[in-house]
Amino acid sequence: MDEEREQGILFESIHVKKDGTYFPVEISSRLITIEDHKFYQGIIRDISERKKAEEKIYNLNRIYAVLSQVNEAIIWTKSWDELFDRVCDIAVRYGKFNMVWIGLLDGKKDRIIPVSSRGTTDDYPDDITIKNSDEPEEQDPAVSAIKQGKGIIYNDIMTVSKNTSWRKKLLSLGHLSMASFPLKHERKIIGVLNLFSDKEDFFTDEEIPLIEEIVLNISFALETFNKDAQRKGAIEGLTSSENKFKTVFESANDAIILTEDRKFIDFNLKTEKLFGYTRNELLNSTTADISPKRQPDGILSSEKSNLLITTALNGKPQRFEWVYRKKDGTLFDAEVSLTSFHLGERLLLMAIVRDITEKKKANEEIKEALKRAEELNRMKSIFLANMSHELRTPMTGILGFAEILYNELHNTDQKEMAGIILRGGKRLTSTLNSILDLSRIEADKMELSSETVNLSDLATESVKFFEAAAKEKNLTIKAETENNVLAYIDYKIMEQVLSNLIQNAVAYTERGSIIVKVITEKVNDLDYSSVKVIDTGIGIPENYFKAIFEPFKQVSEGFGRRFEGTGLGLTITRKFVELMNGEIMVESELGKGSTFTVRFQSVPRHNL
Ligand code: ADP
Repeated sequence: MDEEREQGILFESIHVKKDGTYFPVEISSRLITIEDHKFYQGIIRDISERKKAEEKIYNLNRIYAVLSQVNEAIIWTKSWDELFDRVCDIAVRYGKFNMVWIGLLDGKKDRIIPVSSRGTTDDYPDDITIKNSDEPEEQDPAVSAIKQGKGIIYNDIMTVSKNTSWRKKLLSLGHLSMASFPLKHERKIIGVLNLFSDKEDFFTDEEIPLIEEIVLNISFALETFNKDAQRKGAIEGLTSSENKFKTVFESANDAIILTEDRKFIDFNLKTEKLFGYTRNELLNSTTADISPKRQPDGILSSEKSNLLITTALNGKPQRFEWVYRKKDGTLFDAEVSLTSFHLGERLLLMAIVRDITEKKKANEEIKEALKRAEELNRMKSIFLANMSHELRTPMTGILGFAEILYNELHNTDQKEMAGIILRGGKRLTSTLNSILDLSRIEADKMELSSETVNLSDLATESVKFFEAAAKEKNLTIKAETENNVLAYIDYKIMEQVLSNLIQNAVAYTERGSIIVKVITEKVNDLDYSSVKVIDTGIGIPENYFKAIFEPFKQVSEGFGRRFEGTGLGLTITRKFVELMNGEIMVESELGKGSTFTVRFQSVPRHNL
């Protein structure tokens, strides 16, 4: 005890002045010895000022704590509601406020609806109706803060006019001071933060700017939340109105990416799978991020995509092929369509990306197969042409000597045998000639020498050549020609065309006539020079019209075959006609006859 006294004691106390006011004091007391006498020395110091300063520091620390806690909450919270709850919590816990509430203006802006509150809330706050009064004290401070767009502070509610509706309520809840600060979003006031304390003069000049900073940070957070929410909600936003789109979006087999300001703001699962990135990695990426540096044409992916995007944003949907790069570095070809659309006031771009690697591969394979087939066909034709030539040369010898024998022999039996050799040889030669022609055409070895041919004269000549054969079958044959019908064609080839057609007409007609007409006609406003070979023969079933122009196809095939022939004649004829830029067609009626028409577009006279 003595020791303690030696060292002295120090304590604080409250003293009362003569006028009744209290003031804080610091009392230090210790035992001192003067000339062997012990004395207590007491020093009483008025510490009002120091106390005030200390309180100020304490209060500021409080607000600083609120500020830092709110900033942290801004980072971690994900929505407005969550943030409002956290702010109220923090203000009560760290800011030592009695009560805190946040209210938002409703859509019509005539009510403030409390969205979060903490502390001695009791049944306050209710919705506050905003009256049309400019008398500040008539209105709840929350309304004044919103109306005036600035912080409203009452540091002593006791002194507020007794007529105000809210004074009694606040005092009954033990609030002695209060402040309301407007909350803004996109530069518009959307709500209010209200703080209450059970101490008067709670809001000091140092403290108010800090609270304003807190309010500013909250407002700032609302902006970013909103952007995030809009981004995340791009598709959610569509959900309500466009359920179908949502289904397509999620189930599509194509990657669908929504971009805003060139950044990916939403995409379906297929996108993640196709590119091999996670959702977070892809969010906010750009096309260039998932493309090789350059596209196959050498243009920078970033430049090219910017151009395409800009055009699409200007309302012109784009379709193009693009090379992308997956996360693992592999490149792939895709077909992309870009379309812009409005979502509320936002202009979004939708990219549908289809992986066409397989399609490309298949196309390449088909092209390759086609090339091989063409090459094989060409080789076959060359082979046939060579073979036919090899067969034809000895045939010339056989035919020549068979003819001599036929003419020289007088023994009837022997003459007949020679005759069979001769006819068989002729048929074989004609077949070989057909094969040779077809092979030549297919091997692209046919050379045309075009000139202006008088079709009228050519037809008349050709008919003469078949008069004997027709007479043998009791058929009449004649040419009916307009004068000087001209065509720019190969004479020899046209001669063969006509000969094939007239030969068929004679072969497939049992009675009646064969007429070869040469006319000029107008078809679809175009002038044509046409040759028509008209017979009254057996006719051709309609379903054979196409087949008869194909190699080896005959109407009577197999066991029912009644006529000699190879089925090559019309195939060659058609190829000849097409080689000369003409057309061939058939009209026919079973049992009544057939008409084969060959026509060439007329060449203007001055070009002849
Ligand atoms: P073919 O050597 O068999 O005559 P084509 O290619 O010239 O070969 O003709 C094919 C088939 O078309 C013939 O077998 C025949 O059935 C039919 N055909 C061709 N011309 C006529 C025609 N004028 N009248 C009836 N049938 C015809």
